[in-house]
Amino acid sequence: MSACLADVRILTFNTRKLRFGGLLQLKEVLSGHILSPENQVARLEKMLEVSRKLHATLELGALLALVVETALEIIEAEAAAVLLLNHKSGELWLEAATGTWDKRATPTMVPLEGSIAGWIIRSGEFLVVDSLPEDGHRFSEIDKLPLFAVHSILGAPLKFNEKTIGVLEVFNKRVEGSFTSDDIHLLNTLAGQAGVAIENARMFEQGDEVAKLVQELASPVTSIVDFSQLMLADPEMNPDHWRTGLESVNRKAVYLAQTVDSFLDLTRLETGRMELNWQAVNLQTLVQETIAQAQPLALEKNISLSFQAPDNLPEISADAGRLGQALSCLLENAVQYNHPGGAVTVTISANEVRVQVAVVDTGLGIAPHELGLIFNKFYRVEKNGAKTGGAGLGLAIAKRIIQAHGGDLWVESELGEGSRFTFSLPLAG
Ligand code: ADP
Repeated sequence: MSACLADVRILTFNTRKLRFGGLLQLKEVLSGHILSPENQVARLEKMLEVSRKLHATLELGALLALVVETALEIIEAEAAAVLLLNHKSGELWLEAATGTWDKRATPTMVPLEGSIAGWIIRSGEFLVVDSLPEDGHRFSEIDKLPLFAVHSILGAPLKFNEKTIGVLEVFNKRVEGSFTSDDIHLLNTLAGQAGVAIENARMFEQGDEVAKLVQELASPVTSIVDFSQLMLADPEMNPDHWRTGLESVNRKAVYLAQTVDSFLDLTRLETGRMELNWQAVNLQTLVQETIAQAQPLALEKNISLSFQAPDNLPEISADAGRLGQALSCLLENAVQYNHPGGAVTVTISANEVRVQVAVVDTGLGIAPHELGLIFNKFYRVEKNGAKTGGAGLGLAIAKRIIQAHGGDLWVESELGEGSRFTFSLPLAG
């Protein structure tokens, strides 16, 4: 069986074939097929067991797989899928499906306007489409997915606290021609349970993030406690030792403060609560100032820093402080992850509409499988079994700062040869 699913536009349906979930419509649906009492009890028992399993599964991927498999089984359909609203972007994404569809290989966004799932999200009600027109060409311009031959769809809203957070859909009844009132009832019940379990799993995943932060802070906190206790326990301590201890406590405390600041910055950027102080910025000056700040670290590591920019670069509209923060992260990384005697070059180029800044280094480079991961928060490249550098928040923040300016940041790299981080920004006006 082909595993790909199609979410098709509602506008092209024959409306006589649609049933949807207000009370009046439910009555109409109830006049359809009814299951025998034994079967109803069996299904109810199944639902109770499912409910227990759903709430015991906290890993989101495993939970979604369980939801689609369960829907497939209890509704006796040919395929099932879960679509979820992204909390940040508000977009609706296909998150899980029965069969071989692979989220990473074929990420699939479904438009809220004109799609079945979008209709369910907006109305918060179930929808049955009994018979889709056979001629696939009416949908082909809409769906990029290879079309699973969909004849009928039953979809139910996934809700949490009265808010619709996604959609559970089943496709093509395996035995009977169309979905029954029991199917509708069961899918709605399953969706009700699943909505709560999914939101809990999402919250648990966010909790993981806080756990990562705490993990990150635990080691410097322990060092501060140990050093300060040592110093307090020995009032006669040699002044040199005392100073070394105090410097170490200060270093750890500064690292703590910076990591907490970075985490707060990232949270503000992710939730759209970071306010940018827009002003006319001379990019050339900003780059030169940032290079000057990185110079002591570069000298320490014996790395040369150079800069190229065209004349008459127009000013851009930006938050100089935040842009400097992003640039400084790229420069410090280019120095930090470089070989002694290596080089870092910053190049600015521009056309009529955009300006590009590239930070190129002759350093360690990044393996192809890690290129897509380094912008993730808390992601650090493992090197010789040991983690390198800081908390793994710098690039995540830099990328979001650039995006908040209407631009983007990306990387090209060759392991052992060096890396090129480039960001592009719109020109003012
Ligand atoms: P960190 O605080 O660990 O530097 P970042 O988010 O800035 O965190 O970077 C994430 C990871 O990406 C780093 O741990 C490092 O391994 C890798 N990285 C970043 N910049 C470079 C670079 N210029 N060359 C090689 N690796 C880099």
